[in-house]
Amino acid sequence: MQSDNSRSIPRAERRKVLVSGAGAAGQTLAYWLARHGFETTVVERAPAPRIGGFAIDLRGPAVHVAERMGIIDAVRASRVRMKEIVHLDHLGEPVWRTDGNFGAGAGLTGDVEILRDDLTALLGRACAEVEGLTHRFDDSVTSVRQSDDHVDVTFEKSPPGRFDLVLGADGLHSTVRALAFGDAEAYEKRLGYHVAIFSIPNILDMEQQMFMSTLPGKLVTVMQYGLGKHTRGMFVFASPPIEFDRRDPEAQKALIREAFKDDHAYWAVAPLLAELDRATDLYFDEVTQITMPAWSSGRVALVGDAAFAPTPLSGQGTSTAVVGSYVLAGELKAAGGDPAVAFSRYEAKVRPYVELNQAVPFQSPELAIPSTWEGIERRDADVRAVMAKRDSGDTAGADMTAGDVLTRAANAIELDSY
Ligand SMILES: Cc1cc2nc3c(=O)[nH]c(=O)nc-3n(C[C@H](O)[C@H](O)[C@H](O)COP(=O)(O)OP(=O)(O)OC[C@H]3O[C@@H](n4cnc5c(N)ncnc54)[C@H](O)[C@@H]3O)c2cc1C
Repeated sequence: MQSDNSRSIPRAERRKVLVSGAGAAGQTLAYWLARHGFETTVVERAPAPRIGGFAIDLRGPAVHVAERMGIIDAVRASRVRMKEIVHLDHLGEPVWRTDGNFGAGAGLTGDVEILRDDLTALLGRACAEVEGLTHRFDDSVTSVRQSDDHVDVTFEKSPPGRFDLVLGADGLHSTVRALAFGDAEAYEKRLGYHVAIFSIPNILDMEQQMFMSTLPGKLVTVMQYGLGKHTRGMFVFASPPIEFDRRDPEAQKALIREAFKDDHAYWAVAPLLAELDRATDLYFDEVTQITMPAWSSGRVALVGDAAFAPTPLSGQGTSTAVVGSYVLAGELKAAGGDPAVAFSRYEAKVRPYVELNQAVPFQSPELAIPSTWEGIERRDADVRAVMAKRDSGDTAGADMTAGDVLTRAANAIELDSY
């Protein structure tokens, strides 16, 4: 049984921590900080927890964190079960088909795939049950000034505040990172692909299926998560860096339409573009990996995508965020709130695990989205060969599949109890 300090420490004596961002990292971090007795404020730029995106995976230690938060049964009850993945040619004819777990690797018994929206809701529910945790939506940090024993913070809307610690869990384009660590570009590895995900009606009459097509440098995907659950479309396209307004979905839609303007005859492109026009929950971003030489500076630390985004191609963004947040909160408790001790232990424990996850083969865009028709054919032939071998039960001499490498990376950390 975990100890719960939230009630035993008098409110006035609790250390005050500001968490920026209420994604998987921010919610997990805030839950554990509050449970460990820290007076925790979460500031989130969106007016409510942000929904959107595809299903995400909780693997290995991230499942254990969910267990320790008491939400694992609800997470499993909401799990996504895909029946099949179908790769289609330009006319919509199947090129290959696999079961819904293809490429996920062996040994996944305990792992869970869940809609990002469902996980967000369940983490929010867990947060609502701990004391000492306050959320401020529709606001953002605007400045962070630290001294030896506190951090002064200003906000867009709320009055300024003084905190013992500031923790940035505000994603790929972290404001805390920009304010406390400087030059964003130095930490960003932009992989040259943009991704757009948005809700659509079930226009293809699918059920628990993923349909996808690859064009050179582009990917078109439709995911249907089950009747009663939503259907989402995705466009991915290669492009040099594009400057765009992150708060202007209409401008983002124009960029996507431009990228696919010559592909309307291709399977599903035209109907998906029509649905994009109507979408109200567009998620659009450049596929970017974040690597930093240090995740903390004085009384400020980063976690999740803000510190170490592995990219959605890895499938490990949420698991590393959840695990990193659990360890960061735990080490703060273990060090009695001393940031120098806690932040260095957090980084020593989490960095090797993160680095393995940032290096999984799914990172290779050329594998996921070949840039030429020849590359696509080669990739399809490779997939068919792996499937034929697997179907025949022939595993002799088999190299580790990409999925097996992922499984190893996903489990490369032992969690302490705090
Ligand atoms: C809408 C959306 C859809 C996504 N879809 C997918 C997907 O389909 N597949 C996938 O693998 N990954 C997806 N991701 C990324 C995935 O959620 C993360 O990689 C992972 O869960 C790590 O979470 P995080 O909490 O570190 O970052 P995020 O999930 O990005 O959460 C960061 C949070 O911080 C908030 N924020 C940003 N700036 C500020 C600020 N200045 N002040 C306060 N709050 C701020 C954001 O609104 C967001 O709620 C998506 C992210 C978002 C935001």
